[in-house]
Amino acid sequence: MASAAKDVTPVIVGGGISGLATAAALQNIAGVSCQILETCTLDEFKNNKAGAGAQLGPNGLKALRAIGGEELMQQCIEKGSVLKGNAIVVPGMPEPMVIPDTTEEETGLPQVFIRWGLLRELLSDQLDDGCEILTGTEHNICGYEVKDDGNVQIISKNKNVDHKEANLIVSAEGVRSKFRYFVNNDKCGIGQDEDINFLIEADIKETGRTNIKAVVPKVMDPESFKSGYTYAWFAQDGGVGCFAGPAGDGHSYWAISIADSVNEETKESVPFIAEDHLRNDPDAVKSELLDRLRGLGSEDCKFAIDLIEDTNPMSVYASRSAEQVKIGPYLQKDGKVVLVGDSAHAMPLSYGQSAAFALEDAAVLACCIRDNNSVESALNAYSERRVSRCVEMTQRSVERAAKAMKGEKAEDVSKWIFQWEIDE
Ligand SMILES: Cc1cc2nc3c(=O)[nH]c(=O)nc-3n(C[C@H](O)[C@H](O)[C@H](O)COP(=O)(O)OP(=O)(O)OC[C@H]3O[C@@H](n4cnc5c(N)ncnc54)[C@H](O)[C@@H]3O)c2cc1C
Repeated sequence: MASAAKDVTPVIVGGGISGLATAAALQNIAGVSCQILETCTLDEFKNNKAGAGAQLGPNGLKALRAIGGEELMQQCIEKGSVLKGNAIVVPGMPEPMVIPDTTEEETGLPQVFIRWGLLRELLSDQLDDGCEILTGTEHNICGYEVKDDGNVQIISKNKNVDHKEANLIVSAEGVRSKFRYFVNNDKCGIGQDEDINFLIEADIKETGRTNIKAVVPKVMDPESFKSGYTYAWFAQDGGVGCFAGPAGDGHSYWAISIADSVNEETKESVPFIAEDHLRNDPDAVKSELLDRLRGLGSEDCKFAIDLIEDTNPMSVYASRSAEQVKIGPYLQKDGKVVLVGDSAHAMPLSYGQSAAFALEDAAVLACCIRDNNSVESALNAYSERRVSRCVEMTQRSVERAAKAMKGEKAEDVSKWIFQWEIDE
């Protein structure tokens, strides 16, 4: 049977986890080389200290194995920390409630926490010279046009950049994806000057929490903290959640989730920190966060405060929690555009599945390209295999996040998440 892999010339928009994983998967599984267009600078792209961390359970590790073989999966396990359990700090109790992690016993693979920048580096290292990565704001892509010969021409914000034609655009630009808007609204592309940001925002619902995290080159005191354990503490009203644990190679991570407050007069919700500070003022983020946690007056969140105090503000990764209003029914348009990662399924962080699902997408897409005889049938097969799983995962994450805000527990669907196999 002829394979779509012979005809496809993909360009990937976005060089985050999903873009790089897709490039690696297409190269290793389908024998296809790609061009990646990434809007950040080369220095930012090469910075292996960027971001905080990603949690990968058996599904994420199996996806890595499909993409880069046993070696890539083992590298990830070695560079990260294998999680041995959770410890929940309960107010008034002298010792935390300890829940050992039985994932490895049950599935043969552990849960691993790896620094985000290292995961990006591991995926980049998979790519050979056939894969071209172009970085810089001139590669901030705002649309595309379909040519008479059926190829697509990428359009960037910078009118002077000519991008080469391709016949497939892989949209890996994250939560605020423009290509998701094109796919969901049957649009073909936009002009360079058209502003569709307000339409993109309509596809995303903010869920009223600010998430701030980082990794620190420091190990939590082994006298006080169980090795390999993630510590968690929740303020009683559900307004603040603090998490910390090992992040591999002498590092620890911390993550704080803070619910918006409500303005008594206007009844409007007020984020913990203003959007422009969140994005542009790391010193303010760190100091306001410390003030907020110290102001809670609880010794129970001191484990997080200690790590935050030792954090370089430049390494803080902050985001608003967001969920996608509607996923599918298609993750592709006309065999020309396909969505992967957060572009396909933006979900709250409550299950920590964003990176693992990005890896799953990449592996499945490459298999579909290899195993179908046209690009369009490959993309339809990809949509069919991914949509229901991504819808379910997003709904479960939304439910868990909402319940956590009320101090309630949602049904744990980790077993279903971890059971995933590349050929299912
Ligand atoms: C620098 C960085 C650090 C992160 N750190 C963490 C973390 O510590 N923990 C965590 O849970 N999640 C983190 N995330 C988010 C996490 O990577 C995603 O939720 C998940 O892994 C899915 O990845 P993605 O590649 O789909 O999206 P993203 O990781 O958001 O990557 C999208 C990429 O596309 C690029 N891009 C966006 N728009 C355009 C455009 N128009 N043209 C060209 N390029 C574009 C972005 O610069 C980015 O590199 C981080 C994201 C980034 C970008």
